Amino acid sequence: KDKHYMMMVRARIPGGRMTAQQYLAFDEIADRYGMGSLRITTRQTFQLHGILKGNLKATIRGIHNALITTLGGCGDQVRNINACPEPVEDEFHRQIDEDLQALVDRFGAKTNAYHEIWLDGEKVTPDVEADEEPLYGDVYLPRKFKVGIAPEGDNCIDVYANDIGLVAHRSGDAVAGYTVLVGGGMGRTAAVKDTYPRLATPLTYVTRDELLEVCTEILKIQRDYGNRQERRYARFKYLLDHKGMDWFRTELASRLGRSLVPPRELVWQSSDDHFGWHAHTLADGTGYLGLFIPSGRIVDSPDRKLKSTLRDIVREFQPSVRLTAQQNLIFAGLTEAARTEIEARLKAAHIPLIEEVSTLVKHGMSCVALPTCGLATTESERVFPKVLERFQALFDEYGLTDEPISIRMTGCPNGCARPYIADIAFVGRSPGKYDVMIGGDILGTRLNQLFRELVPFDELAETVRPVLAAFVEERQAAERFSDYCERVGLERFK
Ligand code: SF4
Repeated sequence: KDKHYMMMVRARIPGGRMTAQQYLAFDEIADRYGMGSLRITTRQTFQLHGILKGNLKATIRGIHNALITTLGGCGDQVRNINACPEPVEDEFHRQIDEDLQALVDRFGAKTNAYHEIWLDGEKVTPDVEADEEPLYGDVYLPRKFKVGIAPEGDNCIDVYANDIGLVAHRSGDAVAGYTVLVGGGMGRTAAVKDTYPRLATPLTYVTRDELLEVCTEILKIQRDYGNRQERRYARFKYLLDHKGMDWFRTELASRLGRSLVPPRELVWQSSDDHFGWHAHTLADGTGYLGLFIPSGRIVDSPDRKLKSTLRDIVREFQPSVRLTAQQNLIFAGLTEAARTEIEARLKAAHIPLIEEVSTLVKHGMSCVALPTCGLATTESERVFPKVLERFQALFDEYGLTDEPISIRMTGCPNGCARPYIADIAFVGRSPGKYDVMIGGDILGTRLNQLFRELVPFDELAETVRPVLAAFVEERQAAERFSDYCERVGLERFK
């Protein structure tokens, strides 16, 4: 008899953009085949947990029938492409969406096997040649490959954490071109000392016409030279550091047949996750409402019917839906009247509006970890409310209640919640113990540093206390926490 294996299914939802019908399809599949919850991920997609092996085909078919795929949600290929989720209808954003779609089309695997195995079981074509992967070849990439697009000034997606980060520059109403960054990646392996997180390096500036060609050639260099002997060094960042940026620039220029234009200067104003009500952002005069979803978990609990309330709202008001890279949710295409009604419903269901969520909580992020992530060494999502509660008390005590400081937590060093760029992060190392990282920043442009190793869960807040206390005492006017840490260094607190 077959064992009752349980699986996680992750969709590919480029830029987190979905219709109301697609949202409702996921809502139903989660109830029918999963554990009744939807989990928004940091790559703007949904994960469904607890899918029994016997229900796998039906789940994937259900997702396919909603015109979404799981192909590219996982695996050694380009993963779900992140893009700033802010629903604004103007020429600039329309062009970004067009470029996003072009990248999705270019980087999507062309395999027919997916259809054969998961959908109808039929060979789509007997033509062997048609089953070739023009980009990925027979062996795909050495490792996963992440791409993200940010509009200049707005780093809500953490563009520096991607293998290829693209920053769209404006020229009047349109996209002038993109600054291309390469080699970002969060994961490290605790037992392997020379694995590390890395911020993407600004490489070059490209016009819209050049975008696909340049991104494709970058990806091909990783395909051709990436480490296929040792998986722990297989990410693109290690290739860049191993061979050097000069080698990479020369190789890329030679493949393109032209020299690279220098990148533009990048200036970031915000990494806010587009929370709250924004009127008149769409062409028809409607607006959007950004909702805070704790740890991206959409589930009904005895005291808060989050999943069913959101489902009823989507059914009735038919908004377009966007999942954000900080694991939150946006409903777009709403009139003022709809917004008022939706907020009343959320209130009635005890779901806090963003005005009721503290600065600390709003900027927090945790990964799934136990019990459903097979790589977790310890807790993250389930204990994160406790962490935030303890830090809220600390922040209140030091008058930091409104200070934008990000706290992130993961259940292993793999870094799914992008902990290494948070102001403060807790990275699970062994059961109940965490590495404490300090000194990233709220704009996602700086890596934090290891502050203490293997700190027991109950000591996390007290471990950080001296740094917060000194910050309050010694900060210069309007100095941010991470700037302060950079200026004074963490050595004196160790
Ligand atoms: Fe990712 Fe590790 Fe968290 Fe699992 S425990 S979700 S692999 S960071």
